[in-house]
Amino acid sequence: MGMKRLLRTRQFPRTESIVQLYRKPPILPPVESAFFKLPDTLLMVLDPAWTVQLVSDAWCEILGMRQEALRWRPFIELVHPDDQPDTIARLATLSEKLTTVRFASRLQRVDGSYISLTWNVSHDHTAGLLYASAHETAINLQRAGAALADVFVDGLTGLPNRTLFVDRLEHTLLRMKRRKDLRCAVLYCGIDRFKVINHSLGNRHGDMLLIKVANLLRGTTRPTDTVARLGGDEFGVLLEDIQDASSPVRVLQRIQEALVLPFSLHEHEVYTAASYGIALSEDHYAHPDDMIRDANMAMLRAKQQGGGSYVAFNKGMHDEAMRRIGMEMDLHRAIERQQFEAYYQPIMSLESGRLSGFEALVRWVHPEHGLISPADFIPVAEETGLIVPLGQWMLREACRQMRAWQLQHPRHADLTISVNLSARQLLRSDLAQEVRDTLQETGLAPTHLKLEITESAMMEDAERAIELLQELKRMQVQLLLDDFGTGYSSLSYLHRLPIDTLKVDRSFIKNLHENVADQSFVDTIVKLARQLGKDVICEGVEQVEQETILKSMGVEYSQGYLYSRPVTANEAEMLIITDGER
Ligand code: C2E
Ligand code: MG
Ligand code: MG
Repeated sequence: MGMKRLLRTRQFPRTESIVQLYRKPPILPPVESAFFKLPDTLLMVLDPAWTVQLVSDAWCEILGMRQEALRWRPFIELVHPDDQPDTIARLATLSEKLTTVRFASRLQRVDGSYISLTWNVSHDHTAGLLYASAHETAINLQRAGAALADVFVDGLTGLPNRTLFVDRLEHTLLRMKRRKDLRCAVLYCGIDRFKVINHSLGNRHGDMLLIKVANLLRGTTRPTDTVARLGGDEFGVLLEDIQDASSPVRVLQRIQEALVLPFSLHEHEVYTAASYGIALSEDHYAHPDDMIRDANMAMLRAKQQGGGSYVAFNKGMHDEAMRRIGMEMDLHRAIERQQFEAYYQPIMSLESGRLSGFEALVRWVHPEHGLISPADFIPVAEETGLIVPLGQWMLREACRQMRAWQLQHPRHADLTISVNLSARQLLRSDLAQEVRDTLQETGLAPTHLKLEITESAMMEDAERAIELLQELKRMQVQLLLDDFGTGYSSLSYLHRLPIDTLKVDRSFIKNLHENVADQSFVDTIVKLARQLGKDVICEGVEQVEQETILKSMGVEYSQGYLYSRPVTANEAEMLIITDGER
């Protein structure tokens, strides 16, 4: 409830002031040397009114002031004006329950320059004193004179950045080593479809959305929790001192409720959702990076499941990740060692019953694991970018092979070759040029090449994909929408796409001969395709009954185990030679 009110009135005083504070960091006089000598212990003792009572000698050295100049001064006076609000807020959270705080702020030196420090302030309740120890931030040593804001704060949202988040988490984990009853959780949050929003509404609106989400996260968590921007559209929340494993889930539910409300970004109303991963301290993390990594992994799993939900990290996920890393390394080598082979699956013309072409399907001939299916390694290749060289190789190999067959079997000179393109390839600006070069080098006519693109790959950046497809179309290459019916391409896009053929996904063919709903779906697709002037091909045809139905509906092409599984180039050539002999 409270959240809704906040959203409507847009009151985030705390956030806004911080955003302003850090938007334009003041230009500071540089610290003279990047290798400023660090004195031993920087310790101050403050009384309950935060007045400096005692200072260690090291302070005199680092600030260039004498003991007398420091003692009895209000601690806040020493702090850089821009860092004062945050410092006050941090110190004010100290209580009997929360006895230590960590934060960063700058102190003024005698020559007017500032020194950036990370503070560790603990509260001794019996004595009523604050022990404030500090160390100069390592990053600041490397970038002497850099404004603190640049080092620890995300410039766009005003939130702590990854560096500060890691630092706080490290401190929390250390505290928990001593106090076994304490628990903490890391929530990793990624905005769903952020890329789409950014592309369709523009970067400025994307930025505004990030700021809104940042505010919302801060508004739905406790002041003592750390909300940070970990990069791009990803945020981290460190929940300290939680009761049990259900606490982070309750926080998430609050965040989720608030996030499903539409954000108004000027004239646009944007509905947004996010995916979350949870890592709990029960898993005994020694390093903050490990805990963040696991929360991230769980978040990615939530995204894979369609977004808008959360996943808690578990050990199985870790094992799977290790397997994946192993595969990644193997894949790198596989490209160097040319362990890939192109397999070919025939595509039949239903009208003539003759061979019309082949789809090229990649196979990984692994020296230990044998033949690995693309379903297992294409996603990894996509994520790591290895799909680009792999895709280039497949395109060239398939075009070369088809041209060779056409020349050797002139009776079959009109055979076509279909090659799959991944999302990653589609986003490359030089793809059209690459296709043009490949056709030229291999001598294959563009009308004999069919490029298969999935709906989901298209939707990653629809506008850009449409442009690219138009360019390929001008070159007279044929285009085909793969796995049709499984994605979420809308009809409004469909008529704008310069696509020649819809390839109905095999999940609709599987039970076609028994399932009326599937029949009417395929029938509708055929009618729609007719309206739009496109052809239809069905994949996964395994039974004669399925073929009979497709024929009666007027489907042009068919592909599946009924005719042949994907086979090696030699076997495929046999299929060409024997075609029409039936
Ligand atoms: P896809 O493009 O939809 O390819 C059709 C898949 O269905 C192939 O799986 C094929 O073997 C399988 N299939 C064909 N007929 C039947 C049938 O009658 N029954 C059943 N159950 N399955 C049938 P495969 O070869 O494992 O490839 C899987 C996916 O991997 C492909 O789906 C495609 O998305 C991707 N892929 C394969 N090769 C490449 C490539 O060179 N580049 C890219 N980017 N993706 C590829
Ligand atoms: Mg395909
Ligand atoms: Mg398919």
